[in-house]
Amino acid sequence: MITPNRRLIRTGLEALYFTGSYLALQPFVGGVGAILTLHHVRPARSGAFQPNRLLEVTPRFLEDVIVRLRRADVDLVSLDEMRRRLADRVYWRKFVCFTFDDGYRDNRQYAFPILKRHGVPFAIYVPTSFPDRLGELWWLALEAVIAQNDRIALVMNDADRHFDCRTAPEKHEVFNTVYWWLRGLESEAALRRVVHDLCHRYRIDMAAFCSDLCMTWDELGELARDPLVTIGAHTVNHVMLRKVPHEQARSEMTMGAAVIEAALGTRPRHLAYPVGDPTSAGPREFRLAQEAGYATATTTRPGVLFPEHRDCLTALPRITLNGEFQRLRYVRVLLSGAATALHNRFRRVNAA
Ligand SMILES: [Zn+2]
Repeated sequence: MITPNRRLIRTGLEALYFTGSYLALQPFVGGVGAILTLHHVRPARSGAFQPNRLLEVTPRFLEDVIVRLRRADVDLVSLDEMRRRLADRVYWRKFVCFTFDDGYRDNRQYAFPILKRHGVPFAIYVPTSFPDRLGELWWLALEAVIAQNDRIALVMNDADRHFDCRTAPEKHEVFNTVYWWLRGLESEAALRRVVHDLCHRYRIDMAAFCSDLCMTWDELGELARDPLVTIGAHTVNHVMLRKVPHEQARSEMTMGAAVIEAALGTRPRHLAYPVGDPTSAGPREFRLAQEAGYATATTTRPGVLFPEHRDCLTALPRITLNGEFQRLRYVRVLLSGAATALHNRFRRVNAA
């Protein structure tokens, strides 16, 4: 999600692009297809403190990416079609899937008309507590606490800590410190406890993020009727599954599908692990997703798809369209597989 070494990544992407080495690497690392991860799609907002900005791209950028992919003669396919091609070894054309996590209303307002106009199939992974209005978008709550206060107090690892957060650079620094400390906690319950306490003391209404930003079941139902749209599961409470007990992880995955089926009439065949990095989804989750009957499950481990992914369909990598890197040349490098091959040290499958 939040990347502390943004500059490093940008330098790496630029280097791969401008040296042309991504082209040299392509035959080895290009893979057969890719799954893209997006979150918000909306016009850029002003404001110096937007620590979650990497989770949003502009409608213009989305459209540019679609046009570029079509021009490159890449097939834009649904998750079902992606699975079919992997399972049946249909690799003669490269393919890309668009996936959107969390079910934000801006997907319907800004992304859908563009995707519809271009006839692009796409999936939305929905954590059912969001349309149920019980969801906790804790990363936005943390942003709001820091945005609205000049100083915050917090107990971290049994020690009282005080942070000054008057200026935008200070706010960014405090956000990164607290955000990554939370992400490093050993249990999801511990993380939620800290965020509940912060929201209580600094009077942030966490429920409001859900109703302001996320689609209702009616809105999701309307989208789901369009043949271009796949609704996927994303658990109930958007928990980092690896940080909850076994039974809870299992029920988050099965209940997520059952609630969507009850609300929309179709059981989702595809799952995305919330957060999706190795600290939130590992071998146990990949097995549980298979046992729960999902046809595919996606992580946010960076990578393109290889024929070998046929044997680990519940541990698929994705490529994030990061709001901090809204340049077509970055997307070209990412889709070449060169950047992620370096990240994965040229291992094609990373499912351990
Ligand atoms: Zn998510």
